[in-house]
Amino acid sequence: MNLKKYLKDLENCPCGHTHTFDTEVVEIGSGMTGKAGQILADAGFPKKVLIVGDDNTMKVSKGLLESLADAGFDVSKKLVYDNMKYARVEQVREVEALAKDVGGIISVGTGSLNDICRVSSYELDKKFCIFATAPSMDGFASDTAPIIENDFKISWKARQPMVIIADTKILAKAPTELKSAGFGDMVAKYLGVLDWKISNLLTGEYYCPAVAQLTLDALAKCVSLADKVTAEDEESAGAIMEALVLSGLAMKLAGCSRPASGSEHVLSHYWECYKLARGIWPEFHGKKVGVATLEMVKIYRNVADRYETVKAHADTTDWDKVYAAFSEKQLPDVKKLNDPTITDKVDPKLLEESWEQIRQMIYHDLPTEEELRRVMKLAGCATTPEEIHVTPELYELGIRYHNYMRYRIHLPRLFPMLDIDVMSLVK
Ligand SMILES: [Zn+2]
Ligand SMILES: [Zn+2]
Repeated sequence: MNLKKYLKDLENCPCGHTHTFDTEVVEIGSGMTGKAGQILADAGFPKKVLIVGDDNTMKVSKGLLESLADAGFDVSKKLVYDNMKYARVEQVREVEALAKDVGGIISVGTGSLNDICRVSSYELDKKFCIFATAPSMDGFASDTAPIIENDFKISWKARQPMVIIADTKILAKAPTELKSAGFGDMVAKYLGVLDWKISNLLTGEYYCPAVAQLTLDALAKCVSLADKVTAEDEESAGAIMEALVLSGLAMKLAGCSRPASGSEHVLSHYWECYKLARGIWPEFHGKKVGVATLEMVKIYRNVADRYETVKAHADTTDWDKVYAAFSEKQLPDVKKLNDPTITDKVDPKLLEESWEQIRQMIYHDLPTEEELRRVMKLAGCATTPEEIHVTPELYELGIRYHNYMRYRIHLPRLFPMLDIDVMSLVK
């Protein structure tokens, strides 16, 4: 990927923000496993490294260690887990204990494996490389990582990788569920960008059209490949991987997660925390996010269809009901996030006056529910709450109360200012 071109295009951006990122090299292509050593050597990656992977990711990356050794890397330090599904603080500490005397950490895999290494690299100030094995979510280029501590997932400060390498031969053969999850994480960008624009309109929150467009271009590319996602097709796996990396870079360019994440990510997060607290496997990130996106697109389109005008007033949230929807452990955070609460920043008059513009943005920016469901099915995504094991009760709790987990404007957070019952919009 030509990273310099992206930075060049955003030089002197009219938004006034200086757009930068730390990632220096992204190489996605066929046969990259054998070239990984040379790529890292050329990038000046330290020669003494810690390799972190799991049984699966190490097996599919056959030839990687040899390639590194041939290029002069000392690969004697390895940490190989069985099957890594959760990124926990204990694992961050394990990586850190082993990484103290190396110059860099190479994470072989995706998701949780990358996340623990990303945090460790940041905390120990080590160079960081990802050798990606599946196009499963858009966090590759991220500089934060969700880590579980005491059954709760918190976003930790982390290091953006200096180098990202992916071999399309490996990506294409990745499990279908993971490839479809990557697609599910990408369709969320429709809502991420739209919520960002709505907040900009109502609260003046910083917004950059150029970075939003970068994300939307990556999304369009993915959607055009929907029918090839589940095939063992190197070209489409590579293109989707590129779009996922780009979406992560866009967050760094914007200095916030706005371009990549809207109400659907928070809804998915609500379902996930609820399950984690009960020791239930919450499903892959992009799989849940895809389902949440479909539900939210339905809600946004329905509110635009059914409310041509609105009467707005101060927020009438019933706080007792909100607090009852969270566990003891979550409550202090939820209370803090709502004191003050984000709707304090929204002038009811402006909301009323902007409603037509918001409706037009919904029609312009979002696909219809039917269209989105069609492409997601083509891409092999889960499309119903049942498929991600969300019961009707948990579904309703999430739909009603997810908003209160962020200090952020997302469209459904405005409904208590408009006397709109969000559950009336899910069908
Ligand atoms: Zn800009
Ligand atoms: Zn995501």
